[in-house]
Amino acid sequence: MQSVITLVIGFVTSVLLWFFFRPPFGKNIVRLSTDQRIVALTYDDGPSPPYTDQLLDILAKHNVKATFFLIGKRIERHPETVDRMIAEGHQIGNHTYNHPVLGFLPPFYVQRQIERTDDLIRQHGIVEDIVFRAPMLTRFLPVAYVLAKLDRTHISGDVWSWDWTTQNPDKITETVLKKTLSSTESGSIIVLHDGKAENKNANRSGTIEATDRIITALKQDGYQFVRLSDVRRAAISDQQSAVR
Ligand SMILES: [Zn+2]
Repeated sequence: MQSVITLVIGFVTSVLLWFFFRPPFGKNIVRLSTDQRIVALTYDDGPSPPYTDQLLDILAKHNVKATFFLIGKRIERHPETVDRMIAEGHQIGNHTYNHPVLGFLPPFYVQRQIERTDDLIRQHGIVEDIVFRAPMLTRFLPVAYVLAKLDRTHISGDVWSWDWTTQNPDKITETVLKKTLSSTESGSIIVLHDGKAENKNANRSGTIEATDRIITALKQDGYQFVRLSDVRRAAISDQQSAVR
C-alpha cells in the first residue's frame, strides 16, 4: 500500500513540475518554419555600447539584418544605439525591463516587466508587434500564462551559441556552425549576446568576431539571413513548447 502511495505522489509531483516548467499551452517558437536555407541571428541583453555598435558595423558590412532582444533599462541608457538599430533595418524585441529570472515571479510582475519595456520600445517609433524572449529562456508557467493572456508568442531558439560562457570566437563560431549545419531542418534561430544583463562592462568582442565568421561561412553555404518578422509575416508556423 505504501509503495502505491509513493508512486502516486511521485507521479503527481512529476506532472506538476512538468506543467510548471513546460506549460503545454501558448506558443513558443524555436525555429522558423521554412524549407528555404534561411537563418535568423538574434542578440540578447543589449544595447551595450561599444560592442553593439561594433556588431552593427559587422552586420552592415555583410548587409545582414538581425533581431535584438533589448533590456528596457538599457534602452533608457542608450537610446541612440536603439535608434541606430532601427535606422539600419534591424528588428527590436523585448527582453524585460531589468532581466529578472522571470519564470519564477508572479504574473502581475511578469506583465509589468513586459509592458514597461514595450512602452520604451514604442517611444522609438515602433508600431508593429513586438516579439518577446524571457531572460534565460525561462518560459515557465507565470510567463506562459501572461503571454497567453496578452495573446503573444515566446521566441526561443534552436541554436545556442553559449557565448555567455565563453568569448573565444573560435568556440562560438564552431558551436553555431556545427549546430546550424547539422540541423536537418531549415530556419534555425541562433541565440547570441551583444550585452550581459546588468553588467555593462561585459566584453563581447568574441561574439562580434564570431558573427563576422558565421555570416561569411553560412553565406558561402547559400544561407540567407532574416529578421523574425520577415518570416512570421509570410506564414510561419508556431511550435508548441514541447518542441523546445
Ligand atoms: Zn538575457
